[in-house]
Amino acid sequence: MAIANNRLTTEEYAQHFSDIHPPFQNREAALVEANRCLFCYDAPCIKSCPTGINVPKFIKQIATDNIKGAAHTIFLSNIMGGGCARVCPVEKLCEGACVYNLLHETPIRIARLQRYATEDAITQQWRLFERKPATGKKVAVVGAGPAGLSCAHVLSREGVDVTVFEKESKGGGLMTYGIAAYKVTPAFCEAEVNFITSLGGIDIQYNRELGKDLSLASLQQEYDAVFLGIGVGLARQLHIPGEDLEGVVDAIRFIYDIRSKGYPAVPVGDKVAVIGLGMTAIDAATQAKRLGAQEVTIVYRRTQEEMPCTQAELDIALLDGCQVRWLAAPKAIKGRGAVQQLECSVMQLGAPDAGGRRSPVDTGQTFTLEVDMVIKAAGQEPFTTLVSHEQLQHRQGRISASPHCATNLPGVFAGGDCVNGGREVVDAVQAGKDAAAAILGYLA
Ligand code: SF4
Repeated sequence: MAIANNRLTTEEYAQHFSDIHPPFQNREAALVEANRCLFCYDAPCIKSCPTGINVPKFIKQIATDNIKGAAHTIFLSNIMGGGCARVCPVEKLCEGACVYNLLHETPIRIARLQRYATEDAITQQWRLFERKPATGKKVAVVGAGPAGLSCAHVLSREGVDVTVFEKESKGGGLMTYGIAAYKVTPAFCEAEVNFITSLGGIDIQYNRELGKDLSLASLQQEYDAVFLGIGVGLARQLHIPGEDLEGVVDAIRFIYDIRSKGYPAVPVGDKVAVIGLGMTAIDAATQAKRLGAQEVTIVYRRTQEEMPCTQAELDIALLDGCQVRWLAAPKAIKGRGAVQQLECSVMQLGAPDAGGRRSPVDTGQTFTLEVDMVIKAAGQEPFTTLVSHEQLQHRQGRISASPHCATNLPGVFAGGDCVNGGREVVDAVQAGKDAAAAILGYLA
């Protein structure tokens, strides 16, 4: 069978895409874990969280059965703390910093406790925040992703009216459209967006795209300030022969389709090659396997030492049965109309680049993979044309912003992936908070 959809039964889809990090089974299990915490003075877990969540405080609140208090502590620092509990690479953030690692013991399950504390708040739409009296100021936020929603929530709490313009038909950005469905479901993402907007003062206008349906100049005229949290969204092309063959897809589009169209509707090959080894590549590879692909081979041009994904992510792919071809770079995609082969160059590591990472060098040798689908996950490119058109200063498409998130245009601020080129969801949440603080200063 070549590339096809509807490969599995309903039960198999449900099983393959069930929650990869199940919650605590009951209150007692959560309390036992919470009571393991040493409530460290100067806790390293707080410092390693980009949003600075007071981890020992919320764990203490769980331990004393104060779940509302725990949820408030988390959301005060990170309004997407529920989603982040499911998608954060905690092994290199809070859990990686937990002092239990020094004792060679299992770190506190911070993410699972955070999920326990926030789950009901989101699904039952608890009211944990109140808005301050209206200031009469209004701000436009472009992009309803983690940066935009986080910025909007802080501004609205301070009495600013916020209008969010989102080019998609749903909010949440990468969380809603760009992450494997077994980590966070579309239904949860929708509930999370509703939880954020339930504060009031945040109006999201969907299917409104900057550069198409609205211009920056018109937003500057109509609003007291503008925040750009437009992310990075264009898949990087490989620029090799055969990229336009049937069966060659972008990882972002593949993941997006799984989340928006449903599992049976998304075609997948028998033998799939995935180019790249970032989180998006892992999510694409594992989901291709879970959709029913027989073989999935990840092609990565460096070695395990340089891989951008975490070891935990790689382990998920390996446990799912995906293989990795290290030191391999795509050279040509071959086929008659549709993909039949992927020719790869054998690489070796050369001198370190400016960032200290050793660069791959072509050895001149090649090998060929027999495949019927190629998923490109070689990173994303910023919206260079859009930001140039809007007269924004930028570096190769990344918007240039001051330490206070200000762009070169008066009253226009920017943050998150469109400035830093793409980091974790939790980094975007913090960027939104930083921008909101800067905007409040500007409005004052
Ligand atoms: Fe608790 Fe670990 Fe944080 Fe210490 S470092 S406060 S033990 S979670």
